[in-house]
Amino acid sequence: MKNLVVIDVDNVLADSIRTWCKLVKERLAVDIKFENITSHKLVGCVPFTPAQIFDLQDNVWGNWPQLPTTEEGIPHILEQLQGMDYRINLATSGPVRHVRYVRKWLARNRIPYDKFENVKNKSNLSADILVDDAPEEIRAFASTKRSAFLYDRPWNRALANGRFLRITKLSQLIQHLHQPSNQTRLLAATQVR
Ligand SMILES: [Mg+2]
Repeated sequence: MKNLVVIDVDNVLADSIRTWCKLVKERLAVDIKFENITSHKLVGCVPFTPAQIFDLQDNVWGNWPQLPTTEEGIPHILEQLQGMDYRINLATSGPVRHVRYVRKWLARNRIPYDKFENVKNKSNLSADILVDDAPEEIRAFASTKRSAFLYDRPWNRALANGRFLRITKLSQLIQHLHQPSNQTRLLAATQVR
């Protein structure tokens, strides 16, 4: 059985929050700096009501053809992963109403995967590896002694220590998986808080 990697879509593959910040500037003339976002959930860390935040998020995904990837070369990186005999499940915990847009966005950006899932708690998935930007998902997944890769974003920088690896580029995932002894050493050197 191939090992299973679960990769989060929002803010790991799709640059959702950066696009949300741009939309806020265009529509509400408020300059919210991406680097100052302290929660991927946005509620409570930006000066808007939940309804305003969700409406803008709907616009980010509703306008999916304009939503960029977080970095260049994602299809090639995921193909490499599949070539290393990993299965890739892409997962989003976003609202169900976004799912049809997410699927179209993945196809348009030629992002390869084996399965797509809309789930609330990725740590409950029977995966071997998780790549996510959400600190609570990484913390929960890592606590089960599985390999967790935290995709570096402004809102997860407070999660400084833990049984996980922080990556700033998805290609670093490939590098770490190519060097299992190195990965094990790094994971063993840190503790869950
Ligand atoms: Mg995410």
